[in-house]
Amino acid sequence: MLPDTKYNRTLKQYQYTKNGEVETLPSMKRDEVIPYLIRLTHPELHEMVKRGIENNPHMEATLWRGAMMFLDEKVYRPTLPINGLIGQIESSKGDNSYDIDNDNGYITCSCYHWKNMQAPLTSQGRRVCKHIAALTFDLHFEERF
Ligand SMILES: [Zn+2]
Repeated sequence: MLPDTKYNRTLKQYQYTKNGEVETLPSMKRDEVIPYLIRLTHPELHEMVKRGIENNPHMEATLWRGAMMFLDEKVYRPTLPINGLIGQIESSKGDNSYDIDNDNGYITCSCYHWKNMQAPLTSQGRRVCKHIAALTFDLHFEERF
């Protein structure tokens, strides 16, 4: 879980509270806050996302969102795959969940972006939405966090 940040309009900087102390982040843009906090708290995950972005620059937003969902513990994985179901991801708003299936090696997601082919393709031609990215991070770090 990443700390909740708030923008301090007087300082024009983002802040969060850690152990009752207010921490102020260096000056940065809004979309730099999440990568900064992930680097601070989960450097290995940060490295993995950066490598993913190097190989797939068009997937930057999807990969950071997936990393956030993973850190927010939105990923559920059945102990054994059931009818190809390998994961369920709670939606960002928490009012729904999406199924990720492995259909003979073809990974699908039941979300709108994936089904309507709006999720980006990787350089290897795999379609990856933020939910599939979150599951990928969860599988990779399963015993380390
Ligand atoms: Zn999805």
